[in-house]
Amino acid sequence: MTANIIDGKATAAQVRQKVAEDVAEMVAAGKPNPGLATVLVGEDPASQVYVRSKIRACEQAGIESFGHKLPATASQGEVEGLVKELNADPRVNGILVQLPLPDGLDEERVLQAINLEKDVDGFHPVNIGRLAQKGRESLFVPCTPSGIMYLLGTTGIKLEGAEAVVLGRSNIVGMPVALLLVKSNATVTICHSRTKDLPGTVRQADVLVAAVGRAEMVRGDWVKPGAVVIDVGINRVEDPTIEKGYRLVGDVCYDEVKEVAGAITPVPGGVGPMTIAMLLANTVRAAKHQQGE
Ligand code: NDP
Repeated sequence: MTANIIDGKATAAQVRQKVAEDVAEMVAAGKPNPGLATVLVGEDPASQVYVRSKIRACEQAGIESFGHKLPATASQGEVEGLVKELNADPRVNGILVQLPLPDGLDEERVLQAINLEKDVDGFHPVNIGRLAQKGRESLFVPCTPSGIMYLLGTTGIKLEGAEAVVLGRSNIVGMPVALLLVKSNATVTICHSRTKDLPGTVRQADVLVAAVGRAEMVRGDWVKPGAVVIDVGINRVEDPTIEKGYRLVGDVCYDEVKEVAGAITPVPGGVGPMTIAMLLANTVRAAKHQQGE
């Protein structure tokens, strides 16, 4: 069997197109363009790249962006003070504090300072907490997990009653995606670094989400034939045959697993593009919510 390829790039482009249309409609109705504020603390190169691409994506969708930078030496009070200013700014509908924050800053307190209604990254403890509660809905769901759920939706797989295995239990991917799968009535197993029989557990999965950050860890013989495999990992591996000297691979050994799975996301071009698309969608939702819709 050769798996269907789940095309995250094309799906993300559709989401972004829909966001741009929504923004155009809002503006045509005389409403202001939605606004997203980004807060970048310190000089982490990867964070700078992520924030730049988020700002660029906003521009393309008609969302106004407000980029704020603070030095790595910024105090807790300065970061929280900036967040509070943005909470009070009516042009700002969504606030994104790029993580991780430099050492010495209390991430949870910063996230807690964000107005719940502007928490477009979905990391406010109340939004995350609601994900874990039956019958409660978060105002915003974190962007990578919601992108994963969106991609699962495009495969047509019935999540209700499905065996789902999530590899990884991080706050930003593994745990929230596991909670979302439970909300979709899947039976969910969460694996982590202390799980004893990883291949045996993974083999039970109708749906596998791999978010461990270990290059090509999931092998072909770990996967149940026909399973839907979502590979979140982004890992650099050396490749002297390429000019830049490395290539990106996922947490899943794509060449082996695509021969067994029913559907699989590639890396790159799978989950990655969905993250920014969902951030834009959350920002428009925030703007509509704040306008009373
Ligand atoms: P973290 O490092 O925060 O979490 C990794 C998780 O995997 C932990 O729960 C850890 O277990 C578990 N783990 C690590 N090694 C093993 C192992 N050998 N066996 C079993 N479990 C293991 O990573 P993130 O969740 O932040 O990211 C995961 C991957 O997803 C990374 O490659 C990252 O680059 C990528 N990513 C991609 C995004 C996208 O937009 N496509 C967005 C965010 C992340 P324990 O808890 O026990 O330590």
